[in-house]
Amino acid sequence: MSRIIDTSPTPGKPPAMKTPRPFVRILALALGLAALPATVAVPALPAGDQGRRAFRPHVLVLAIDTLRADHLHCLGKSDIATPHMDGLAADGVLFTRAHSTAPWTLPSFASIYTGLRPYRHGAIGGDYARLPRETGTMAEYLRGQRYATAAWVTINWLNAQCGMNQGFKHFRFIGSTARDGTAQASAITHQAMNWLDGKKTGRGRRSKYRQPGQPFFAFVHWFDVHAPYTPPAPFDRMYYEGDEKAGGTPVLDLLLSNRNKARPKAQNAGMYDWLSGVTDLDFPVKQYAAGVSYVDDHVGRVLAKLKERGEYDDTLIILVSDHGEHLVDHGMYFTHKEPYQETIHVPLIIKLPRGVAHGRVIETPVSTLDILPTVLETCGLEVPGDLDGRSLLGLMRGEDVGGTSLLVSERGAAPDDFTKTLIEWPWKLMVIKKDGRVENRLYHLEDDPGEIHDVSRRHQQTAERLRERMWTLHDPESPLLAVPGEERPAELDAAEREKLRALGY
Ligand SMILES: [Zn+2]
Repeated sequence: MSRIIDTSPTPGKPPAMKTPRPFVRILALALGLAALPATVAVPALPAGDQGRRAFRPHVLVLAIDTLRADHLHCLGKSDIATPHMDGLAADGVLFTRAHSTAPWTLPSFASIYTGLRPYRHGAIGGDYARLPRETGTMAEYLRGQRYATAAWVTINWLNAQCGMNQGFKHFRFIGSTARDGTAQASAITHQAMNWLDGKKTGRGRRSKYRQPGQPFFAFVHWFDVHAPYTPPAPFDRMYYEGDEKAGGTPVLDLLLSNRNKARPKAQNAGMYDWLSGVTDLDFPVKQYAAGVSYVDDHVGRVLAKLKERGEYDDTLIILVSDHGEHLVDHGMYFTHKEPYQETIHVPLIIKLPRGVAHGRVIETPVSTLDILPTVLETCGLEVPGDLDGRSLLGLMRGEDVGGTSLLVSERGAAPDDFTKTLIEWPWKLMVIKKDGRVENRLYHLEDDPGEIHDVSRRHQQTAERLRERMWTLHDPESPLLAVPGEERPAELDAAEREKLRALGY
């Protein structure tokens, strides 16, 4: 495999400025900030023959929720089997330093869809749990080019209430009620494979399915790596050989105590019920790994379907996760809360059509913000100039493209409770605001990959430079660039809220 190493510390080019809406401009002027547009409109389909291309690749996004980058065999976890992801990496380009924009589902996937960081796209949770309708999404861009668009998703954050169905003509939400360990991934995979075959399943108009000769964009979302870690046989005991209930202190004593820095609120305590009676902390760690191998098996099934149909070579395939997981890292257990590397360093594999750049490994730090521009350029479409991401196509081809990706991650939907990070590799600034206090931490990700030692005092100039750049990107007093007016927050009903609570949200 060829390796490209580019760890230039130069800051990424800031997004282009454009006249913002009036209230945004007022806010920006008051704060002395660079004002940016909150949304990016979908470009119109070019008229006439210009819009018809001889070759338009299919686009397949394989989205594996909660998958840490360090749990892929091809990314160094030699004791975990991920043969299908490894195979895809061998056929494509493997990014070893890909970062998500948030440590949880909604803002992260919204960034993948839009190429915008959470502060700009606006789907950040709390009172702002909806992607604004006017924001262009990957599905809308491709549907505008006459792609057949389809998605199969498994959690409410990706549902219509949060505006995340935008652009998908065929949209299936497969709920998280069946937690027997088999129903979800199997149902998702089964429906996706049928759709790829052009078979009609369930209700809905025939026109929502693939038409002969039509390129497709399919988004397949698996949730089975997420807690509770209950993969079905034969994966359920793949890596754990002991007796998880062999006496000793119940792990729930730890998880529900102050020693767990991600201790759930009282109403969410049920999120750990699946560990009732368990005394061995190694059990959930190994079961998480088993879930990774289980979903890898489903990745293999979808890829096999494409090969069987003769469409694998002509498909742009992207495998990515929205965030990772705290396993025991930073005193947090089996959830994803703060944007440390274990939650924002995600796997990213991009297989270009027709074997271009296959087998390449790229260590240049990149962002999931870069996925949409990469898809658009690969499909021969114009990339809007005011996205936060950049196309990785030139980098994958081995061209000297210069520049860097914008590496930001955010948690929090309130001006008095948030964490924001900015990486200029190998430096990472983490700003935490809580209880009226603001804390700035600086980590050196190569010398200290576990983010244990805050070196902001020892490297004051670096910390100050990153801190200044951070506040050119964000308003410290506002969770969003443009607080929506007419757009109301998503209204989830009581049953949906209960489901999310059981998962720890
Ligand atoms: Zn997620």
